[in-house]
Amino acid sequence: MSAPGRYTGAMDLVDLLQRRFGFPDFRTGQAPIVEHVVAGGDALVVMPTGAGKSLCFQVPALARGGVALVVSPLIALMKDQVDGLVRKGVRAAALHSGLSPDGRRDVMDRLHTGDLELLYVAPERFSPGFLATLKQVDIRLFVIDEAHCLSQWGHDFRPDYLRLGRVRDALGRPPTMALTATATPVVQDDIVDTLGLHGAERFVRGFDRPNLLLEVVRVSKEADKYGHLPDLVARAPALVYAATRARAEKATEALRAAGVPAALYHGGMDPGSRTRVQDAFMQGRIPVVVATNAFGMGVDKSDIRSIVHVDLPGSIEAYTQEIGRAGRDGLPSRVVLLHKAADRRVQEFFLDNANPPPEWIEALWAVLCARGDNPVFATLDELADAMSIGRRGPPIPSRAVASCLRALVRADRARRIHPNDRRAGVRVLPGGPRDAPSGLRGRVWDLVREVSPRPGHAIAFSPDAWAQRLDLSRDQLVAALRGLEDRGYLSFQAADRAGGVEIVDPGRPLELDREALEARRRHDRARLDAMVAYADTRCRRRYLVTYFGEPAAYETCGTCDACRAATGRAEAPRVLAPDEHLLVRKLLSVVARLTRQGDRETWPAEVIAHAALGHADPALRGLETLSTHGILAGGAHGGWTTRELTDLLDALADAGCLDRVATKVSVAGKARPVSQLSLTERGWSIVRGGDADLRVAFPHGHKLLAQAPTPTADTDVPSDLVARLKDLRRSLADAGNVPAYVVASDATLDDMARLRPLTQRAMLGVHGIGEKRFAQYGARFLEIVRTWTEGR
Ligand code: ADP
Ligand code: MG
Repeated sequence: MSAPGRYTGAMDLVDLLQRRFGFPDFRTGQAPIVEHVVAGGDALVVMPTGAGKSLCFQVPALARGGVALVVSPLIALMKDQVDGLVRKGVRAAALHSGLSPDGRRDVMDRLHTGDLELLYVAPERFSPGFLATLKQVDIRLFVIDEAHCLSQWGHDFRPDYLRLGRVRDALGRPPTMALTATATPVVQDDIVDTLGLHGAERFVRGFDRPNLLLEVVRVSKEADKYGHLPDLVARAPALVYAATRARAEKATEALRAAGVPAALYHGGMDPGSRTRVQDAFMQGRIPVVVATNAFGMGVDKSDIRSIVHVDLPGSIEAYTQEIGRAGRDGLPSRVVLLHKAADRRVQEFFLDNANPPPEWIEALWAVLCARGDNPVFATLDELADAMSIGRRGPPIPSRAVASCLRALVRADRARRIHPNDRRAGVRVLPGGPRDAPSGLRGRVWDLVREVSPRPGHAIAFSPDAWAQRLDLSRDQLVAALRGLEDRGYLSFQAADRAGGVEIVDPGRPLELDREALEARRRHDRARLDAMVAYADTRCRRRYLVTYFGEPAAYETCGTCDACRAATGRAEAPRVLAPDEHLLVRKLLSVVARLTRQGDRETWPAEVIAHAALGHADPALRGLETLSTHGILAGGAHGGWTTRELTDLLDALADAGCLDRVATKVSVAGKARPVSQLSLTERGWSIVRGGDADLRVAFPHGHKLLAQAPTPTADTDVPSDLVARLKDLRRSLADAGNVPAYVVASDATLDDMARLRPLTQRAMLGVHGIGEKRFAQYGARFLEIVRTWTEGR
């Protein structure tokens, strides 16, 4: 155990963590995993997104010396991790299809000279040639990240992952780790079987994220969902997930119509627009993004405050993956599923498409074989058309064709050539010119003839590999191929268009395992049932935790909507979200004002609550003119009741912001003992804007979340906006021939300028704006606020 570069004790590992990664200590759950793997054990790790799985293999990678090989499904994920590691001075690199030939050569050189500590690769990289290379390298750790991609039962199955068991064997079975955020016990077994990791220790921590406030909002009509949306995303940054592109578009329109600046993101948009939306969201320039599930993997934004699903997801796995992106900074974040009973049918439709009848799979096989080319380059729509010829009934949807293809891939009778493998297609034309082309084109032509001896048959190739072989740039190669195409030698399909299918053993009849197909369908249905049951469950957090096979430490979590509804129980002290902190500051400023202007230092909680809500109270006589009077009136602040505010005052006393003073007050001529409140030093400091790390057992927190202020709410009152509002008031008053205050008071306009409401609902939260006044003037004021906000 004394080989150089090997660490043996736990102390050494913390030391390594500090020196190489700059983190003071391991997080919960990391140390036992790291120790186990450093000692040479295999591990299956299931921990929620954001828990810190990467470090669980990065530390052992360095501790064990040699190279760690990390398989990761997406270039974006690899890049993020490698960039982060390189910034910390860790010698890491990635091999993927986005590299230039030079870039690739450089990585291979560093691999051979032992310069790399971690090498990230995509699962499709493991060609026999690459494996042979790897055998000459000192690989001491094999890591499969996002390991759920490996299970057929997983929600994101990738056939390339199936090879990894064989890869592991070829590498001589080094210590191996498989990591994922979402794996039910069934999926865990599948991962273990496929990789041959039967001796692996399982480290399973389910989906327990105490700071996510889980909630299901039931609606009976589709339109109600869109009615709820603007309020649900009021706490930005916010993400809205929809089931399809069309539904994402609809939700985006609904938000925009309500004045919420929302951006759309789905896989059908061009890559440039997608990147722009993602970047703008990451940098905080767009508060709300509406997306399909194409948005997410690799999105590491720590302060997402709300995630709303307008459609039922297909499984708990998919759901937890998506909501796991909220509140990574540990602050309370709202997670809402908008649910309508009939939504199940949409998912059933997807489920049917994902599990097409065996006859369709056979029809696709026949269509592929009949094309005469291998590989076949065709779009899903073309294949669907071909399959539908001579069939009765509705046409086969292209989604279902994709599923038929996947079934053939799983049966090992077809291989997908993904466009993003950067595989291009070329076919030598049978009746082409006889004379050989010259120059660059000649060299390319020779290579084409070498790999494609039979004219008329398409072959797939990697432009990068060819460019490297001919020592050309990719552009030169493509230009030469286009030249050959123009001159009638061949037909050429550029890499980004050429999705293709390679048929395995075209001569052998297709024998489908119908039982396995049926088992798959049953499994998908069970997952959907589990998702539907979530909407009805009692404690939502407990439900998610136990779904992944971990016992929950509690019967009821106390934070999800179901528990809150059942118990109304107070929460544990915690750091407040910005809105909550603002509310606390306003409430304490009420006490401050009363103390300064009133005739005493201590006030009953109820009187403070009345002052905050703008209610009449004999004890407040003469103090109704204070600027803080009614500061928390109206729905925009959460629609608090006196009772709820006194609960909050109580919690603030517990948190040290207020002192409880026992005094006597005279009620109906009798002296009665009551507990009154006075501001402490701490309380004053918060009124002055200090003490950001205040921790409060914030009661009724969901109220504030449920009806949060508009996204722009803060305390400053822009005078130019007030001026514009006053202008409007004058013209409305003139037009109606009424005094200005009948339209709106100064206090109302100030409040409006402070809250800057963008929706009717938010406008109704402005002090002094009721239904009636809104009906008369609301739209005009909204317009002013909107144009002012947009012009900023
Ligand atoms: P996962 O893969 O589980 O979703 P990541 O590995 O991406 O999570 O980690 C999430 C974040 O937590 C990263 O920014 C990472 O740097 C940070 N992190 C992980 N472990 C620690 C630690 N021990 N101390 C401080 N930060 C950590
Ligand atoms: Mg990860």
